[in-house]
Amino acid sequence: MAIDFTLEPRQRTFRLESRKFASEVLADARAAESLPTPEERFLATRGAYEALVAAGFLRKCIPAAAGGESTGLLDLAIMAEELYSVNASVTLTMLGTVLGVLPILLGGTEEQRSRLLAPFLRKSGAPLAGFCSSEPGGSANASSPPPGEGVRTVATLRDGQWIISGRKKWVSSATGWDRKGADVLCVVCRTDPELPPENGISVIAVERPASGLVFERAIDSVGHRAHLVPQFGFENVSAPQHNLLGSRGAGLALAAASFTGTAALVGVLGVALMRAAFDFALHFARTERRGGVHPILEHQAVGYALADAKTTIEAARYLSWRGCHAVDSQSPAADELAIQAKIYGSEAAVRVITDLMRVVGIDSYDHEAPLGRLLQDALALPIFDGGNMGVRRRQLHGLLKRPDYDPLQASGAA
Ligand SMILES: Cc1cc2nc3c(=O)[nH]c(=O)nc-3n(C[C@H](O)[C@H](O)[C@H](O)COP(=O)(O)OP(=O)(O)OC[C@H]3O[C@@H](n4cnc5c(N)ncnc54)[C@H](O)[C@@H]3O)c2cc1C
Repeated sequence: MAIDFTLEPRQRTFRLESRKFASEVLADARAAESLPTPEERFLATRGAYEALVAAGFLRKCIPAAAGGESTGLLDLAIMAEELYSVNASVTLTMLGTVLGVLPILLGGTEEQRSRLLAPFLRKSGAPLAGFCSSEPGGSANASSPPPGEGVRTVATLRDGQWIISGRKKWVSSATGWDRKGADVLCVVCRTDPELPPENGISVIAVERPASGLVFERAIDSVGHRAHLVPQFGFENVSAPQHNLLGSRGAGLALAAASFTGTAALVGVLGVALMRAAFDFALHFARTERRGGVHPILEHQAVGYALADAKTTIEAARYLSWRGCHAVDSQSPAADELAIQAKIYGSEAAVRVITDLMRVVGIDSYDHEAPLGRLLQDALALPIFDGGNMGVRRRQLHGLLKRPDYDPLQASGAA
């Protein structure tokens, strides 16, 4: 019998360390979010990001086998809940960097790993990596055959160098602190445009290009106000031939594998935001009478709404942890559980935070209260990391259509 959600002493300690760091460093760093432009806001988080790196949190996201200290996705989830509940922008900068190196971790050779991962294993500086999948005009149909455009960015091999041209959008931290590029960009591109997408797309690692990376703009996003999501171009950016990750033409599979673990984590990000909103709403309900006789928690409508919110938070956390555990243990149900965690946790976050705003009432609509910010951050969760409509439900639909699909596999009872 192995159903036990008790954290190990090591994990409980890690959770407390993460919580302490979040309250001591990341809470104050939220001030960056009130600066006027997206780039000013992002640049103002650099100190907090450096502190995250110096405290070893980035190293703790990289598996021990690759030189880091991660013991699995579940530990990452425990840490992410603590950090993200306090500062979504800076935490996403770190998690976006982890996503940025995932194709190296999953598809890289030993030589590629030791060369490309080095900046991310140090406890110094502010290293950034970006996973460059999304493009202007949409990316949900990256695997579309012609006449669909699918992936439009193209890489051509010339004299031992990949020459990459195309445009990307929404890629976390991709243009770096100085518009010249993150330390490493893993670029999804067509290496054999004449072949079908499942054989003609690859992922190529680009180390801070000397030229050709063209910054277009920093998107003024609804939430994650101090996180950088740029639109930019590759104009004949070159990368050595040996920077192709995994096998040539197997890029779609590598990208999909990278996005399995992140799905389970997005469920946890939903939990983090709901938890922060719940803490505020519960305190408000306990302490505010709003001109009446009793704290509003005494009103049944308020109590029931809080009870429903708390129930959803617990359900989302355990589904997400189950998804992480399934990924860690390479369960055949890992894809299904991770995607379900993403869909459920992300959509629950939007719904629950909105419900909690109704509990608090009009003062929730003032940015002095955290709920508006938390909702703005939560709105990204159903539509990023593969939108729930255009990507994630389609993936589940694809699983259901497989003749060998076994509904009991996810329960471990197959
Ligand atoms: C804060 C933030 C950080 C991000 N970081 C990154 C990053 O690091 N790297 C990166 O590459 N991207 C990143 N993104 C972008 C984002 O993850 C993706 O672009 C997005 O998930 C693509 O999903 P989409 O479904 O909206 O795609 P789109 O192609 O834009 O589709 C739009 C809509 O069309 C409909 N649709 C399209 N095709 C279909 C279909 N076949 N079936 C059903 N419906 C369909 C759906 O309703 C879908 O929502 C980030 C975004 C944000 C907000």
